[in-house]
Amino acid sequence: MYRTHSNGELRLKHVGEEVTLAGWVQKTRDKGFMIWVDLRDRYGITQLIFDEERTPKEMVERAKTLGREFVIQIKGEVIERVSKNKNIPTGEVEILVKELTILNKSVIPPFTIEDETDGGDELRMKYRYLDIRRNPVKNNLIFRHKVAMETRKYLSDSGFIEVETPYLIKSTPEGARDFVVPSRMNEGQFYALPQSPQTFKQLLMVGGIDKYFQIVKCFRDEDLRADRQPEFTQIDCEMAFVEQEDILNTFEGLTRHLLKEINGVEVTKFPRMSYDEAIKKYGNDKPDIRFGMEFGELNEVAQHKDFGVFNNAELVVGIAVPGGNAYTRKEIDKLIEWVKRPQVGALGMVYARCNDDGTYKSSVDKFYTQDDLAKWAQVTGAKSGDLICVLSGNADKVRTQLSALRMELAERLGLRKSNEFAPLWVVDFPLLEWDEETERYHAMHHPFTSPKPEDMTLLDTDPGKVRANAYDLVLNGNEIGGGSIRIHDKATQALMLGHLGFTPEQAKEQFGFLMNAFEYGAPPHGGIAFGLDRLVAILGGQETIRDFIAFPKNNSGRDIMIDAPSKIDDQQLDELNLKLDLKKT
Ligand code: ASP
Repeated sequence: MYRTHSNGELRLKHVGEEVTLAGWVQKTRDKGFMIWVDLRDRYGITQLIFDEERTPKEMVERAKTLGREFVIQIKGEVIERVSKNKNIPTGEVEILVKELTILNKSVIPPFTIEDETDGGDELRMKYRYLDIRRNPVKNNLIFRHKVAMETRKYLSDSGFIEVETPYLIKSTPEGARDFVVPSRMNEGQFYALPQSPQTFKQLLMVGGIDKYFQIVKCFRDEDLRADRQPEFTQIDCEMAFVEQEDILNTFEGLTRHLLKEINGVEVTKFPRMSYDEAIKKYGNDKPDIRFGMEFGELNEVAQHKDFGVFNNAELVVGIAVPGGNAYTRKEIDKLIEWVKRPQVGALGMVYARCNDDGTYKSSVDKFYTQDDLAKWAQVTGAKSGDLICVLSGNADKVRTQLSALRMELAERLGLRKSNEFAPLWVVDFPLLEWDEETERYHAMHHPFTSPKPEDMTLLDTDPGKVRANAYDLVLNGNEIGGGSIRIHDKATQALMLGHLGFTPEQAKEQFGFLMNAFEYGAPPHGGIAFGLDRLVAILGGQETIRDFIAFPKNNSGRDIMIDAPSKIDDQQLDELNLKLDLKKT
């Protein structure tokens, strides 16, 4: 037996017992006649003692050769420590070593295996197996496991069954580029890796599996904006014979269950907000509602004075920053610089201070009276002591800019508390979205999403106005899940694909299998998928998903530990009947 106990297990009650432990050398302290070794495994650290009086000399000598991360096994007696360490659970005991076996040596690790390590990101990724020995990463993986298990438990208890769907498939349009895999047996042909199991889960509904889920890898070849991974994990779900309401209730239940079991938080409210309202109030379809600072539209009260900038703007919109009147002029100037950064892109910012005595002082006092400014305060909900920040311009742009400012200020003001959870459903998304580049409508969610029946007639006349039976679950300013009620008849699916610019032949070639299935008694159905990586990070009170993935890729999509992607040899290319003809860039 390699070990009788783990290194996190022994307490005072074990004193006097003979034990066998195994693990890694965290550190050694050599006092000459006495050596202490901290022995570590996944469960904790136990202190070992080698002592010249009680341990054979040869063993003390060998203990002196132990280096960091050596793997050892020891046998010994649990004794009470003279000076106890209250900071660790095993801190009251130590092991008087009687036998020492070095199971494996280690070269000196490139960074310290400590909670606060000296290793930079790249180095830690290159030696991820060492990084995983560190508590923060290890604990995140354990945390992720718990979330996955609780998810499986909840869904399984609710009658869902987990079904695996294939990875080598045909393209599923979820709005990203596919990763493709050449087929050796089918010369010149390629599989696509699934961007999600979307079509398969719908086919499972046709197959009568009326409650499906899967914790599943999805693959999207996107430019990696901050905190995205080319392969990521979804909790993918689909249900038959349901309406939108049934799905929202079921997955509200899952989210409640997770918040309770994982975070010990009871969330009662899951407000619902239409997409239009979210955009109007927060400039964003995934608003963080842990704090207020709702947008106040000021067109009516700020236009038609002599201030041309506002008069010429499609939208004048502001927020009240709580306590913002305390900002110095310099701090406000910095804020103005911040909104003018290219990443935000505002042309400028107008502000009004709400003084304690009820008066106002604005950057545009020339054009506005105290009464005017009082109206701004009313519309934005500003109180004395606040600062009103106002942006103006093209409505879409200005909302996005003000949303960025709102989030930044909330962050600075400490209003985005990681232990507070405020979920909400955003519903009634537009079905289609106009793409400037291709000058075409694209499916905002995906082409299988059902339009709201009452909006169907608008498809021909005003496609941008058609709303979908689509919803997102938002938690603390992040979209953690999204889904829709699906189209389940061939004619509507064909119509939809037509609107997305597919010719009937293209539609048949790409999605014929699905539309054929719809001819064999497809039940009404709908579903949702949660992004597990992000969900876990948010429940864990952190922002980056990478820290919750055992072996993540870097921002260029590389796994720098195994050095992938990499070239393949000529023989492999030959077998695939492929020849490389790389374009020089
Ligand atoms: N397949 C969709 C996605 O990955 C989710 C869904 O509609 O269920 O976003």
